[in-house]
Amino acid sequence: MKITIIASGSGGNATLFASRGTRVLVDAGVGPRVLEQCLSAANAGGADGRLLPDAIVITHAHADHVGVAARYNKKHKIPIYASEATARAAELGDRERVRAFSSREPFAVGALTFSPTPLPHDAAQVALVVDDGARRAALVTDLGEVPPGLLEHVAGCDVVMLESNYDAGLLEAGPYPQHLKRRIRSARGHLANAQACELLAALPGGTHTVALMHLSEVNNRPELALDAARDALDGRRTRLVAAPPRGPLVLDAAAPPAPPPGAARSSLGPPAPPRQLGLFTGI
Ligand SMILES: [Zn+2]
Ligand SMILES: [Zn+2]
Repeated sequence: MKITIIASGSGGNATLFASRGTRVLVDAGVGPRVLEQCLSAANAGGADGRLLPDAIVITHAHADHVGVAARYNKKHKIPIYASEATARAAELGDRERVRAFSSREPFAVGALTFSPTPLPHDAAQVALVVDDGARRAALVTDLGEVPPGLLEHVAGCDVVMLESNYDAGLLEAGPYPQHLKRRIRSARGHLANAQACELLAALPGGTHTVALMHLSEVNNRPELALDAARDALDGRRTRLVAAPPRGPLVLDAAAPPAPPPGAARSSLGPPAPPRQLGLFTGI
């Protein structure tokens, strides 16, 4: 399963999951030009030459996630999958346009199975585990706190994409008005670096890649989030990256190659991304 993070953050969110001939865009919170450029790049070398995804799954009704979904649905007849609450709040359209999913029931789109679970946020929101039968990847953003059961839901996923929205000190000292700071910090707001780290520290084995998502460009810095996450992962063999606000950043859900015996530690795994975006922990 190939995962292309097209955009991540309050300016927009979109991630493409592709496996075995199925391409599903989760969230469409970018402009059509950026989206088409990234879809085109993500399709480079694809056997069928298709550009558009087979479906769009919307996690929740906030504008940075809904974006061009309704427009793509109308123009290209691409089905939208969303919970009923999200479809209603985002005015995505009627049952002909939107295939409603329950926030606790898995659903399939072609070769991919999506397993949602509710997240605490100021809109009806879900985390998704995407499974192609061989690999599993979790997408967990827009949550004010880690709810009971979330760790079990994402445990063992090859790739975990987890919100690490803000550094508490930077948010406190930053320019946002108090009501917005309260909203972000609340149990229905966004996840702080320290909260993300608690979940990362509790992850059982099996995860070879962690991507930090939805980083605030005002209240966070990639190096702060990465340093905290690296400490939380505490020497595990995990590839760690911070998703940039604008991608594409490509992740492969297939495990990194095993190190050859006696190999230098720096030679393990796939090539390291640029220094400011990522690093490896424990290797
Ligand atoms: Zn968001
Ligand atoms: Zn949101």
